[in-house]
This record gives sequence, structure tokens and C-alpha cells, in this order.
Amino acid sequence: MYQGDAHAVFVSELQGRGVVNEAFFHALPKVELHCHLLGTIQRGTLSAWVRRERLPIGDDEIEAYYTRGKKPVGVLKVLRLLEQQLLRSPDDLHRMTVEYLAAASAHNIRHAEFFWNPTGTVRDAGIGYREGLQAILRGMQDAERDHGISSLLIPAIDREAGARAAVEMVEWVVAHPHEKVAGIGLDYRETDHPPELFATAYAAARAAGLKTTAHAGEFGCPWTHVQTALDVLKVDRLDHGYTVLQNPALTQRVADSGIIVTVVPTNSYYLRTLPPERWAAEHPIRFMPAAGVRVHPNTDDPTLHLVNGTQAWQKMHTDFGFDAQAIGQFMHHGIDGAWVDADTRRRWHREFEAERVAVLARCDGTAPSPTSA
Ligand SMILES: [Zn+2]
Repeated sequence: MYQGDAHAVFVSELQGRGVVNEAFFHALPKVELHCHLLGTIQRGTLSAWVRRERLPIGDDEIEAYYTRGKKPVGVLKVLRLLEQQLLRSPDDLHRMTVEYLAAASAHNIRHAEFFWNPTGTVRDAGIGYREGLQAILRGMQDAERDHGISSLLIPAIDREAGARAAVEMVEWVVAHPHEKVAGIGLDYRETDHPPELFATAYAAARAAGLKTTAHAGEFGCPWTHVQTALDVLKVDRLDHGYTVLQNPALTQRVADSGIIVTVVPTNSYYLRTLPPERWAAEHPIRFMPAAGVRVHPNTDDPTLHLVNGTQAWQKMHTDFGFDAQAIGQFMHHGIDGAWVDADTRRRWHREFEAERVAVLARCDGTAPSPTSA
């Protein structure tokens, strides 16, 4: 599949070079561009809130949320549980923000741009936009002070809530401008909610000077979603984008544009639809870089996907065969995709690259990784 021959050659070339271990992926300086705040819920925090709200959810059910079997419990179900029954105050959002950024920083993620769905927070949790925003911003500030991680917040349109709610969300964002709120995103279930439904909301965001990104081409949705995200929403970067490979001309266009595509090695859709023995061989992420698409790996919903900032990157090597040189390119893609000013971007390219070279010299080769020894 996906122009197989050229890719097979590419992958076999990569596999011959640069064996790197877990210590490398941990120490590599990284940015994260695709993570959902609610998808970072720690198990202990969720359990505490279930007890606090006296919900009839047993330990077995909570265990199932944090289990990734052959047919994992849909992550979206847990996110809705949080919005509808567990989040009760701005302090809850503050706690999640601090816990996420502390965990990310522990894996040498130096800068994180993460999604938050204001519509669910306001509509279901009953927390006002301003109060929710301030709590998250406070968490970002606390994390930067305590862990040195910088971050930007991306209010994201809950596509299941429809086009009107999307416009309303953008109005909230525009009415409360903040330097740490760099742009908007689009997430939740893509099926039946193609990007073009949100054209008005995106036009309003762009008119207000906000950056934009959107989930498109996830859930096996058609490649046309990628095309409309580009042409109608005019996104600055793209989340997932896997089905772009179904249209070679569009793939070429995405490659030529240089747009950064955030990918998620632990994405649920392919875990459910590809047979386990063929998953790594057939996952689109394996083929996107060879087609010239500038990908960047991310954790998405780290605690629910049972993945951390080290493992999301390591999977690019262990599962998809990318070598240290390719991983270095992904690192620079993350910097290019970040919504920071040009001076910061240039400085990070320089500093991260120097660190990458030093880390590689230290970790390349046969030294056992700290956790597998
Ligand atoms: Zn996502």
C-alpha cells in the first residue's frame, strides 16, 4: 500500500543506521504540539474526582479506561465523562494543567502547545470561559516557574457541538485575547463533521490574528478532509492527516507546502482497524516522511494512551523504523511548527541541535537503556 516499493527501500536504509536507545529519546529536547488537556488526566486524579462526585464508577471501570487492549475503551468516552460529570471548578483545570506540564517536562518536553475544549467546560462543567482560561493560564505559569517548561494554549472547537457552537467559541477566544493563547484547533469525532462545517469560525479566528490547526484525516476519514482543512480552513498546521496518502497529488502538495503534520503513534483508530501483526508495517506514519510530509510525533492523550513523551518518540524508531537522523528532523519539525516568534524558533533550532548531537554521542550504540537494563 501507499507506493510501497519506494518506501520499503527508504525504511530498509534507515534501519541499517543509528541504533538509539530509550535514554536518547528521553534526553532529546522536544516540543509537543498535539496534546489534549483532558486526555492527560492522571489515574489518581480521576479516581479522586469520581469519589468526590460520588459517581457509581467502580475500580474495574477506571481500570478499563487505562488499559490498551486490542479494543481499547474509546478515549472520547473518558473525555466526555470529565466534562459532564467530573470537572467542577477552575481549580480542577489548574490541577490538570500543572500535572500535564510537569509530566511532560520530566520527559524533556521543553515547550508544549495543548488543546482545551471551552465548549464542554462552559456547557457541561458550568465553568465560565474566562474563569477556565485564567485557571489554565495560572497552571501554565506555575509549571514554567517550577519546571522550566514553556507552553501555549489552543482552545479547540468540539466539532460534535456543531458550527454555531464553534463560532461562539471563537467569539470567546477573541473577546479574551492573551499572548499565551496563540490559535485555535478542531477536535473530537471527525466522522460526519468535516472541516468545512467550521469555515465561518476559522475565518473569524484568522481575522483576529489567531493561528489555526485542525484534526483531519483521523478515524480513516476521507482525504478530502485534509484538502478542505487546507483550502477552506487555511490551517497553519495539520493534526493527524493520515489519509492524505490516499491521494498522491494531495500528498505532494502537503509535502511541497512544508506544513507540519502532528502525528500520534498511539492513535486508536489504527490500533482498532489494523491487525496487530501488520500494524507497524502498514501504519500511515511509516510512509508519510518518505513522501516528503514533515511529521512530528506527539502523545495526544498520554495517560489514556499509556504513553509518555519519551515513548511517543521512541515508537517512531522501534515501531516505524526511523533512525536517529530522521528523529532529528522530526525534532526540528516541531520547532518549525511551534507558534513562537522567529527569534525563539531560531534559538531553539540552534540549542536543540547542539543538545541532540551531545545526547546522540552519549546514547548511540549499545549502552543499555536505563529502564530496560
Ligand atoms: Zn488529537
